[in-house]
Amino acid sequence: TFDRTPLIAGNWKMNMDHVQAITLLQKLAWTLDDAKHDFGRVEVAVFPPFTDLRGVQTLVAGDDLPIAYGGQDLSQFDSGAYTGDISGAFLAKLACKYVLVGHSERRTIHGESDDVINAKVKAAFTHGLVPILCVGEGLEIRQAGTHVEHTLAQLRADVAGLTAEQAAQLVVAYEPVWAIGTGEVAGPGDAQEMCAAIRAEVGTIFGDESAAGARLLYGGSVKAASAAAILGEKDVDGVLVGGASLDAAEFASIVRFES
Ligand code: PEP
Repeated sequence: TFDRTPLIAGNWKMNMDHVQAITLLQKLAWTLDDAKHDFGRVEVAVFPPFTDLRGVQTLVAGDDLPIAYGGQDLSQFDSGAYTGDISGAFLAKLACKYVLVGHSERRTIHGESDDVINAKVKAAFTHGLVPILCVGEGLEIRQAGTHVEHTLAQLRADVAGLTAEQAAQLVVAYEPVWAIGTGEVAGPGDAQEMCAAIRAEVGTIFGDESAAGARLLYGGSVKAASAAAILGEKDVDGVLVGGASLDAAEFASIVRFES
């Protein structure tokens, strides 16, 4: 039994054009429908590239699919001279529920600082989107043994200024950078250690209700074979899946971890 509805989220990254996206989503929906998946028990969300979102919206609305979706990033600004950026207002107009914020690939490739990520988290809430805030340490920090302090410092900076109500809705994904796309999975104990620390920190900053409400995910090379053990941990409320979310059958197996 879970205190919070588990969330299984698929980050497609820069994969799947608008035609491939529809095929993948249809396959996923059929597979879960065949398995009689109870979406009230385990929530499913996908994060396609921006150019796929309109097609995803049309399919989800047309077929009444119980699958949530969102953007992989958003601008911290609402509109204006920000060439190439996408506003949270635009995502909300496409009926996105969630948005990824601060993925390690945004932090490293695009140089996003905690200040920018904090502004994006706030922008998400402003537009009625639930941010899935990604935090986590690189290999050197893990080897130095300071991964908990490092990740909590990111968390504190990224959630600064939120209200307790917002914090209660927040989703935080712990994604150790050394485990993303590398095939290295953190053990269930590592995921639990960090998620427990994150929950305690949310409680310290925002209070017990926020700590009880916030959903904490693990991400990093999760596959069907590793998902169930990680999801069995007390403070882990879901997983954020990259590579394995591009295979409908594999991703559906992760969603169906209890069965
Ligand atoms: C991710 O990008 O969020 C991720 C966890 O990727 P992968 O599952 O491929 O490691």
